[in-house]
Amino acid sequence: MELMSNSLKIPMPGAAPTDLASRSRRLGWSARADAGRARSFVALRGRMLASPSLAGALHFMQVTNRPWEPHELRAWLDNHVIAPGWMRPPRAVREPGAETVALGELDERPEAVAVLTGRARRRVGSALLDFVAPDPEGKFLRAALYSARVRWAAVGDRSGWLPAPRESDFLSDVVLSLFAAAILSGPDIYQRHMTVCSHCGRVAFAQEARPSTAACPRCDGEVRWRVPLAGAGRRRGGGGTGEERA
Ligand SMILES: [Zn+2]
Repeated sequence: MELMSNSLKIPMPGAAPTDLASRSRRLGWSARADAGRARSFVALRGRMLASPSLAGALHFMQVTNRPWEPHELRAWLDNHVIAPGWMRPPRAVREPGAETVALGELDERPEAVAVLTGRARRRVGSALLDFVAPDPEGKFLRAALYSARVRWAAVGDRSGWLPAPRESDFLSDVVLSLFAAAILSGPDIYQRHMTVCSHCGRVAFAQEARPSTAACPRCDGEVRWRVPLAGAGRRRGGGGTGEERA
């Protein structure tokens, strides 16, 4: 819940009704159609944020820019990974380039936890920056699929991708499995609306494909998003990454 209210504070350039109306008049667009689009984007974002995998992934990236304290990491694992049933409690938390910390020793090792979560956030941020790059390698989605950190599930008439991280996975791969499940379940939305701060990795969703201001509200860093392939002479041969077809 706190996440939704947090995310709804994300400024959306051009989305204010007055801006929308005056700009539409200037450009000769139908203000009514734009307002409809704005409403449907808000509804769309509301549906996305209701997804537990996206909520958990965003919580890891959004809540703070500073590395986490032990109780924050434990709460995140409990609430967003273990409680939904995606993973059993790991014996230890691991991250490349950081010391492994046993789950039972988190509280005694706050410095190691800070380094570990800081590194995990940077690794997740760079994977997401690739996703929104003009020529994405699509590595993290492929890695999540090939190493089965996501699984396809059908319950009744509903189906989609769910995170399936393993207890031995790096913390960043656990977070990325949550992002991968959310993105694979609706890649178009993420390709069109997801923005990533190149400095702090903050993820946001913008209605406009090209926000007019591109500074991160948290750190003032440069915000990136997937530039539409059509137009601006930006034709890419094939553009074939698995994620685009998924
Ligand atoms: Zn930032």
